[in-house]
Amino acid sequence: MSLTLNTPQINHFISGALATGRSERYSDVYNPATGAVVAQVALASAQEVDKAVAGARAAFPAWAETSPLRRARIMFKFKELLEQHHDQLAALITREHGKVFSDAKGEVVRGIEVVEFACGIPHLLKTSHTDNIGGGIDNWNLRQPLGVVAGITPFNFPVMVPMWMFPVAIACGNCFILKPSERDPSASLLIAGLLKQAGLPDGVFNVVQGDKTAVDALLAHPDVQALSFVGSTPIAEYIYTEGARRGKRVQALGGAKNHLVVMPDADLEQAVDALVGAAYGSAGERCMAISVAVAVGDVADRLVERLAQRAAALKIGNGDQADSEMGPLVTAVHKAKVEAYIAKGVEEGARLLVDGRGHSVAGHENGFFVGGTLFDRVTPDMTIYKEEIFGPVLSVVRVPDLASAVELVNAHEFGNGVSLFTSDGGVARAFSRQIQVGMVGINVPIPVPMAWHSFGGWKRSLFGDHHAYGEEGIRFYTRYKSIMQRWPDSIAKGAEFTMPVAK
Ligand code: NAD
Repeated sequence: MSLTLNTPQINHFISGALATGRSERYSDVYNPATGAVVAQVALASAQEVDKAVAGARAAFPAWAETSPLRRARIMFKFKELLEQHHDQLAALITREHGKVFSDAKGEVVRGIEVVEFACGIPHLLKTSHTDNIGGGIDNWNLRQPLGVVAGITPFNFPVMVPMWMFPVAIACGNCFILKPSERDPSASLLIAGLLKQAGLPDGVFNVVQGDKTAVDALLAHPDVQALSFVGSTPIAEYIYTEGARRGKRVQALGGAKNHLVVMPDADLEQAVDALVGAAYGSAGERCMAISVAVAVGDVADRLVERLAQRAAALKIGNGDQADSEMGPLVTAVHKAKVEAYIAKGVEEGARLLVDGRGHSVAGHENGFFVGGTLFDRVTPDMTIYKEEIFGPVLSVVRVPDLASAVELVNAHEFGNGVSLFTSDGGVARAFSRQIQVGMVGINVPIPVPMAWHSFGGWKRSLFGDHHAYGEEGIRFYTRYKSIMQRWPDSIAKGAEFTMPVAK
């Protein structure tokens, strides 16, 4: 697509300055609540990616030599600036993503928490030292930065997910290239400006806007040492396979199908509140959204009755209106995809209790809205159970007992998050241990770990060895080095031909 006259253009940020797109390729950015095009984002060519990588590479030696304490001070200043621009960031999210403003503010808070974690980098990079392993020799280890690293992020958290990556990466001494989602790219440039204002040297943080062309250029670039990816499973698998084949370090977080298991002894009202918020919040466009309610035993009828009432009563509207509980989906294409899943569910025999198709919001008739949708009597062979819908569609699966619930969850191809509602501690403990999912909530519907506990799923929800942020993030963005040292006065004379052992 070419550039349209008078439409604002969203550009790259390379070596400390905005860089106008040169590829002549652009993508429309919508306000999903109105359906209007609000900007066009430049799509980078491989040459533009080269330029960003070259800038980052040039900045690396000095940044890697900057003391962790000085890097931390820039993070402290950045955190302060993020707090000052909290509303502005959230407004950009709401405008291009569609989620309600209060939810967007929450997203920014969860991102700031990772910056707070990164402020502790002098302590986090401390390593271990063994004094005198023998003969005047000491042995210790270092964690050194990798060089130029890149992050490729999804549309659903345009602030938080990049912040799962770059605060840790740059605090460790790396230079970072962010390739945000082309659907809501504006927040990335505000972030880049705030980092510069905080005193980050030019070239340490860069943004290349774009699509597959930019991603493939990052994958192929020999100077990109590591890639962090968050997005759908097919692309996560592609990034992991292609990156690993080229010898890069890769962490690639993929899609999800998160279950919330309701035991008969659970507080039903709490479970219903949890399900409604976690299934329909952010219009279901969260990798930790609950899309399956697993009703155990005789709780099913009572649960379904309450869920149907609540799904039908959701307040749906423009995310910038204070009373909206749920906004639109991100694009018209995504809305059509979600509505097609609902049709498929009906076709495959699930009972559609609340149908969100064709939902219209007065004054926003061109917005990409889908209403809250509820299916009952969904079975594991149905498409709506197997695949990630990423919309406001909740499926209820009925099972006779806890063992069947565990078996159901463990058999699913995804293993991002899971939740159990119960009042029995023993059941909760056994469930937490047996379940094959990376993040578990007990009476907590969306168990997104805090910044110092790492985030990541199991099975086809994550490709690679490291989860995001926290200690796992520090390990991902640093190379381990072991150093052994002695000084001439302790060196014995003569060559040694046997395996050195501690004496
Ligand atoms: P997506 O996979 O379509 O896009 C993610 C990124 O990959 C974007 O930057 C996009 O430009 C790029 N991309 C898209 N197609 C590509 C291709 N063919 N080759 C190379 N790069 C490509 O995902 P999305 O629709 O933006 O986000 C929603 C998905 O992200 C959902 O599946 C959701 O579960 C997942 N997600 C997962 C987590 C997690 O932590 N596991 C968190 C957030 C979102």
